[in-house]
Amino acid sequence: MTDSLRETNTKVMEHYRRLLELPAPWEVRSISMDVDNRKVAVEISYPLGTMAHCSECGQLCSIKDRRKKRWRHLSQMSFQTQIECEVPRTDCPEHDVLQILVPWAEPHGRFTMEFEAFAILVLERSRSIDEGSEILGISWDAAQSIMCRAVARGQLQEKEKKIMPHLGMDEKSFLKGQSYATILSDIKGGRVLEVIEGRDEESAKAALACLSPKQREGVEAVATDFWEAFGNAVKKVLPKAEQVHDRYHATTYLTKAVDKIRRSEHRVLQAEGDQSLKGTKYLWLTNPENWRKEQRDIFRALRGANLKVGRAFSIKEQFRNFWNYTYAGAARTFYKSWHFWATHSRLKPIREAAMTLWRHQPGLFAYFRHRISNAVAEGLNSKIQLIKSGARGFRNFQNYRTAILFHCGGLKMRPHKCR
Ligand SMILES: [Zn+2]
Repeated sequence: MTDSLRETNTKVMEHYRRLLELPAPWEVRSISMDVDNRKVAVEISYPLGTMAHCSECGQLCSIKDRRKKRWRHLSQMSFQTQIECEVPRTDCPEHDVLQILVPWAEPHGRFTMEFEAFAILVLERSRSIDEGSEILGISWDAAQSIMCRAVARGQLQEKEKKIMPHLGMDEKSFLKGQSYATILSDIKGGRVLEVIEGRDEESAKAALACLSPKQREGVEAVATDFWEAFGNAVKKVLPKAEQVHDRYHATTYLTKAVDKIRRSEHRVLQAEGDQSLKGTKYLWLTNPENWRKEQRDIFRALRGANLKVGRAFSIKEQFRNFWNYTYAGAARTFYKSWHFWATHSRLKPIREAAMTLWRHQPGLFAYFRHRISNAVAEGLNSKIQLIKSGARGFRNFQNYRTAILFHCGGLKMRPHKCR
């Protein structure tokens, strides 16, 4: 090698050392290029015969041997960059043989921290893992493992946990409705805190276990539906918290009752050759503010027909006023007269729904002390729905959980070096 070539070589290696921000004693040993496959390999070395720090305790130990490792790094000028290194393994008196920490990657990772940070950015903005992994040029499984690590990293960062006075607890179906998951959310932050398989008391408790003891003390109220298992878990794990049945959950019961009445009335009318309720399902399930013009016209036409579903709908709509009261006392007066109306409506499903609400009055009236509303229903629901549709039905629960926390967890997921 001529002197000038040697000098150029040294310059290139120095260039790479600075690009990779390699601290001493790590150095770039060689660069090789595979033009056909558009790849650059950067070989990094740790000086021979040197001692190194145990990755567990940091103690300076003797180097036992070295193992060749490869990491995918960010591409440069459309060339995929790979880092290669024979990584020393220390022989620690306390921790036995362990691979030392490398400055460019986290332990056990196959990607550099910079690559993972970029991959997280891409996957956050992709409609599906398929799309993200294609852009990144990695496999679906590799993308999934990056997301999984990102979530774990983010959750670990949450250790300095702040107090969240208002939480939401919901159930959500996955695997085409065959299974359920319990979703715990931070209402003010509008983010999902935990996703646990199942919807029984144990699942709810497991979800609440993500809170530190101090955080549990700080919870003032949890918005839930009438599901007893959730109420029991809240009582046992969060002794200071009140259970609130919010607008979304209470209305669900009334909406279901209206739908039941529509179905049976439609059947009766149809038998008489009357098709007036055909195709009106969504009319009765939607808030009038959101009706399209044709829905408003249909409603106007049906109003005069004195239909059962029309009466049920009015009772349901009337109940919405409950949430507008400033004082619980005034709300109680309204509620009593509404309850009388609903239970004397001669509409069985409405009467049953009203009785269900009656049994859950403490939770309904707790609303006036906390005024919280379900976070998942308020905004996260559509996001979770999108995740579900972009994920090929989720082959297992862990992937479902990872995707929800990755996209809705509000976590700081990038590797430490890249913050
Ligand atoms: Zn050690």
